[in-house]
Amino acid sequence: MNRIAFTLEDLQLEIAKTCAKGQIFQENVRLIAVSKRQSAQKVRQLANQGQIEFAENQLQEAQDKMAQLTDLKAKWHFIGAIQSRKCKAIAQQFDWVQSVDREKLIAKLNDARNSEQPPLNVCIQVNYFNEPQKSGAKPLEVQKLANIIINMPNLKLRGIMVLPPKQSEFSKQKQQFDEINDFYENLKLTYPQMDTLSMGMSSDFEAAILSGSTMIRVGTSLFGARQD
Ligand SMILES: *Cc1c(COP(=O)(O)O)cnc(C)c1O
Repeated sequence: MNRIAFTLEDLQLEIAKTCAKGQIFQENVRLIAVSKRQSAQKVRQLANQGQIEFAENQLQEAQDKMAQLTDLKAKWHFIGAIQSRKCKAIAQQFDWVQSVDREKLIAKLNDARNSEQPPLNVCIQVNYFNEPQKSGAKPLEVQKLANIIINMPNLKLRGIMVLPPKQSEFSKQKQQFDEINDFYENLKLTYPQMDTLSMGMSSDFEAAILSGSTMIRVGTSLFGARQD
């Protein structure tokens, strides 16, 4: 079976091993399957094996997929760049938005979320290393955004999401994640409601977990290479 690169079971085993190594409770690390540019059929296959949370980065593509999967008890995370005209659909159709990076999106997401729905879970995307080509709030802007989010009745501030520069060496990955974890722990002193540090992908989730990640976002390792 080579449709899925790393079976869900194998990946969970790897996560368990890493947690054991770092003396971390495995329940504290959530696995999000990044299903962008993967078929609805593959999502269904993984859901049948017990995976519940999936992430997408394009609204239209996500909507097409969700429409084919309405019978699943899936939870959906939005992790892509947010265009303000798409806030309404994103706020109503996702359980989490991890890529909030500017002030003007916040009220839009709040206003669009139906008050009968549970509050929308929000992570602030932080461009921690100030990379010019990457989206995300600057570290110094995070508190301002957090203060706005906590005052929105239909939003729930959960934490931060980061995508640090790719490093092939484990020690470099770990160093970056440690730095981000310090930043997160410091934020939590002001925002104790934060419980989510979303970091780590296929190529670096072990280092992320060992540095305190509570949510890893894995795509290619689970689903195989993406379709173009
Ligand atoms: C695509 C993507 C991932 C998953 O990347 P893989 O290397 O395929 O595991 C994680 N996070 C974000 C924000 C992404 O866009």
